[in-house]
Amino acid sequence: MNNFEFKNPTKIIFGKDQIQKIATELPNDAKILLLYGGGSIKKNGIYQQVIQALSGFEFEEFGGIPANPEYSILLDALNVIKTKKITFLLAVGGGSVIDGVKFLSSAALYEGIEPWEILSKRIPTVKGMPFGTVLTLPATGSEMNSGAVITRAETKEKLTMGGSGLFPVFSILDPCVVASIPERQIANGLADAFTHVLEQYMTYPINALLQDRFAESIMQTLIEVAPAILKDPSDYKAASNFMWSCTMALNGLIQKGVPTDWAIHMMGHELTALYGIDHARTLAIIAESHYTYNFEAKKKKLAQYAERVWNITEGNLEAKALAGIRKTTEFYQSIGIDTKLSDYIDNYEGTAEEIARRFEERGMTGLGEHKSLSPTDAENIVKMAY
Ligand code: NAP
Ligand code: FE
Repeated sequence: MNNFEFKNPTKIIFGKDQIQKIATELPNDAKILLLYGGGSIKKNGIYQQVIQALSGFEFEEFGGIPANPEYSILLDALNVIKTKKITFLLAVGGGSVIDGVKFLSSAALYEGIEPWEILSKRIPTVKGMPFGTVLTLPATGSEMNSGAVITRAETKEKLTMGGSGLFPVFSILDPCVVASIPERQIANGLADAFTHVLEQYMTYPINALLQDRFAESIMQTLIEVAPAILKDPSDYKAASNFMWSCTMALNGLIQKGVPTDWAIHMMGHELTALYGIDHARTLAIIAESHYTYNFEAKKKKLAQYAERVWNITEGNLEAKALAGIRKTTEFYQSIGIDTKLSDYIDNYEGTAEEIARRFEERGMTGLGEHKSLSPTDAENIVKMAY
């Protein structure tokens, strides 16, 4: 196992009827900005619960943060923060709203002129404006981590940012919110969380026995709850286990002491930036090609995963590893997610070359756990995913 430091300061408040606890977590003298997405919270009762909890506090509202939080819209919210002298942000939504609020947390205290630099120059955020979240969609883990992904439609870019100053102060996880989530987004949540675990697990063995078993148990839980939560999102047993698995998949714990990959996300982000394909679906498009292309480097972990997560007992190491890749693709498909780029768009020719060009331009010349994948490797992987 590698050396590591681990600190996660986010307070989690988990369970039924917990949204009202916002009131006990907010600083009394805060001037709050409540931020949300396209309006789902007004249809499912979450907005009303939040507003009730905020009575007695001074607050403003900013709605309309879109899926794949858009820079130009966030700049409007930044303007509200500055003109209304906001001191605390409250994100009510899924990964897009929470990520958008993380950008705002950073941009609110940023002293440069153009806050896009936080993303383009990869400036880590050591101190941000404090914020809390009410999670409405289990998927990204953004509610308990310090990363964010922001989109800029003008330039078709989707870039990551982060830093120790970007952990939420608190996050409220009420599994009852899952009941109103459309099937497509439930499937996305399952696939995103599952792939988050893969990115931190499917590398090479490093004797991190407990870390491996944490990762495997999260994947096993997601596989177990998937049929139940897709059939009935109001099934509390399935919803609560789904929600906590998504948070645990990317709150920093399972990445400690082990190598991590993240190349699937890096390539996937480009597919969202170029074509608007849902984040989780881009991961399902890339995963099989990535694991097939990097088979030699990853086959030991692929075989361990096949054995422990999918109970594959037949065959030698290579055969098990191949079965692990096949099972992963079948899992995405079993939850209704297509796994080839051509399932989503017709004009995919040139995509791989464009992604390679972008990686080259940004200096992203060493992806993966060995920092060894060149833009040409990415090009080959994306081509295999057509
Ligand atoms: P999302 O983009 O936040 O939300 C997707 C859709 O689900 C929205 O249309 C939203 O509607 C709706 N929705 C949310 N909660 C709902 C509910 N309870 N009932 C009904 N509809 C609901 O989806 P996401 O998958 O959570 O986030 C994806 C983003 O996160 C991507 O940009 C991705 O790159 C990023 N991401 C971040 C991390 C990280 O660690 N920070 C990790 C992976 C991915 P409304 O807009 O109307 O609310
Ligand atoms: Fe993700």
